[in-house]
Amino acid sequence: ARQFFVGGNFKMNPATREAKKALIKVLNDADIDPSTEVVIAPPHLYLFAILESIRKDIKVSAQNCYCKDAGAFTGEVSPRQLADAEIPYVILGHSERRTLLHESSEFVAQKTRAALDSGLSVILCIGETLQEREAGETAKVCEAQLKPVVKALKEGDWSKIVVAYEPVWAIGTGKVATPQQAQDTHADIRTFLSTAVSPVVASSTRLIYGGSVSAANCKELSDLPDVDGFLVGGASLKPEFVDIINSKR
Ligand code: 13P
Repeated sequence: ARQFFVGGNFKMNPATREAKKALIKVLNDADIDPSTEVVIAPPHLYLFAILESIRKDIKVSAQNCYCKDAGAFTGEVSPRQLADAEIPYVILGHSERRTLLHESSEFVAQKTRAALDSGLSVILCIGETLQEREAGETAKVCEAQLKPVVKALKEGDWSKIVVAYEPVWAIGTGKVATPQQAQDTHADIRTFLSTAVSPVVASSTRLIYGGSVSAANCKELSDLPDVDGFLVGGASLKPEFVDIINSKR
């Protein structure tokens, strides 16, 4: 069985250390379903402080890393540095980085390879734009984003990958995918993994949904057969994140 997974992507938030402390306190004081894997992804700057102050049943993730272990890459953080800092996860391929920072699927695949080589697990984000969905290209776009990763990985690597399906039109818009849209796309991604990698990888890899997930809509989505959890943005900065973590209860 695939363990339910809830990630909190803080993005470039919160803006102050004071607010960061308050957020961590809410999580530390919360009653959390022990059967859910919970991972929070704060900005790099806060990783060490949060690693020291967060309860041990919540894991910590970076939001990005580079594809090299060390060297002259100003402003970047290496997967080896993250692993050495005992950060177990990294988010790669988020749509904000694909769009605003022009990261290609090939580059995301290189970074995924490097992260795995350093022993990190990867939350790999994919998803289509509204224009692509309306053109009926959702499955094609997700496959194109996954293909370079499939090429860069061996079958055994997939146990360290969580795929986050995040339709771009649903991110930060309050426009969540319908249960039907989420289920259909997750099923398509699983079918693709089955042929491109293997049936075992397809049935064991967690496919989580992201895009305007809230306490109000998480329950229905969490009941879908191919939705194995969530990657939460805005709501991960609020107390309702705890309700999302506990959506299977
Ligand atoms: P929102 O939950 O704010 O829509 O963001 C989703 C997201 O991008 C998580 O990575």
